[in-house]
Amino acid sequence: MKVLKFGGTSVGSAQRMKDVAKLITTKHTIVVLSAMSGTTNSLVEISDYLYKKNPDGANEIINELAITYYKHVNELYATAEYKQRAKELVSYHFDYIRTFTKDLFTLFEERVVLAQGELISTGMMNLYLNEQGVNSVLLPALDYMRTDKNAEPDPVYIKEKLNALLEEYKNADLYITQGYICRNAYGEIDNLQRGGSDYTASLVGAAIHAEEIQIWTDIDGMHNNDPRYVENTSPVRQLHFEEAAELAYFGAKILHPTCILPAKLNNIPVRLLNTMQPDAPGTLISNNTEKGKIKAVAAKDKITAIKIKSGRMLLATGFLRKVFEIFENYQTPIDMVTTSEVGVSCTIDNRKRLDEIVDDLKKYGTVTVDEELVIVCVVGDLEWENVGFEASIVNALKDIPVRMISYGGSNHNISLLIKSSDKKRALQALSQHLFN
Ligand code: ADP
Ligand code: ASP
Ligand code: MG
Repeated sequence: MKVLKFGGTSVGSAQRMKDVAKLITTKHTIVVLSAMSGTTNSLVEISDYLYKKNPDGANEIINELAITYYKHVNELYATAEYKQRAKELVSYHFDYIRTFTKDLFTLFEERVVLAQGELISTGMMNLYLNEQGVNSVLLPALDYMRTDKNAEPDPVYIKEKLNALLEEYKNADLYITQGYICRNAYGEIDNLQRGGSDYTASLVGAAIHAEEIQIWTDIDGMHNNDPRYVENTSPVRQLHFEEAAELAYFGAKILHPTCILPAKLNNIPVRLLNTMQPDAPGTLISNNTEKGKIKAVAAKDKITAIKIKSGRMLLATGFLRKVFEIFENYQTPIDMVTTSEVGVSCTIDNRKRLDEIVDDLKKYGTVTVDEELVIVCVVGDLEWENVGFEASIVNALKDIPVRMISYGGSNHNISLLIKSSDKKRALQALSQHLFN
């Protein structure tokens, strides 16, 4: 059994939905869908208005969004019967969203509002397939996708509930389910964070021991650099799980950072494919490594660097433990670390507890904070015995100020910390030197 996930742009219009329906003809496939493109952003905007107690602002966006959905319904279905059924589906969800404009609005209500996008897109696709004569069935993600008290997915629960649902509907041709949405440990509606439909796909794949997980999007696989900043990037045909995980974590938006782990743990290949160009080979992510090659570059924004300089670090044991403990106490993950005999520099991307962290670190030395930084990450076969790669990477950036360099943490990555204002220039220079 395969799991196929289609992102927002892949289901972004009636025509796109029809195109997706043509791609999911293999029996017993599980199809994970995102909300139609732009919808989750609009739901976030509606929620922002409601937090600010501005129901008129919220209603204006709700009404606009509802109108676009009625247009999609008119275009998507051929028969009066299905147009009517889809209209009822859409108005049910929009009436429900409107109920939140009348009362107290908290994080709890926001999560319910955010869940409506995937509920509508999957409902519409299922109706369309039924109209086409396909015996498809909706698997409600809220009945099987669950997180635990640490907000981590609960694989045992997911496996048991999902397999029970599949057994219940074993005569169906196709299964359609919502990406992104879940219930939390308290049974409340929640989500797997923005972009989390990729995570749904890999959790579903792991739960059913899928033979392959396919992530269908608007580009022909993982490119060797960020196409939003660099021209003439090209697709990478093969990546190791660890290379893909590094690229996703360090900013390659095509994949959600969490989505590789369940696939890797269960050794399920992940294929990145292009809905607009279904015959393109895309990218295969698996346990295979291509030796002696730099594969791709990615960049992670909004990084803050913190340097602690201390005479006491000289010959001291336990200094690093004390420093790291402070970050742990404030539940702030560290991305990059570099050390010297007199100091240590760390980077974080979550600045929520920055002031408290800095205050505590001052006990151990002089603290300096640098903001508006970007981690540029170069991924490939970077085993230390390979010669020359580090030199070409550093050489590519010879005109750009570099705040930190980290190499040797894995066999797959070199990370460099630079100013945000140098990001585009750095990505372009790396493409020029490494791939042209
Ligand atoms: P979806 O809505 O299908 O989940 P996303 O917008 O999340 O799609 O991801 C696809 C986008 O990721 C592409 O359109 C592209 O602009 C962006 N992207 C960033 N870095 C890369 C990369 N290295 N390779 C391919 N796409 C990338
Ligand atoms: N619809 C959600 C979002 O826009 C989840 C996803 O598309 O992956 O973030
Ligand atoms: Mg995405």
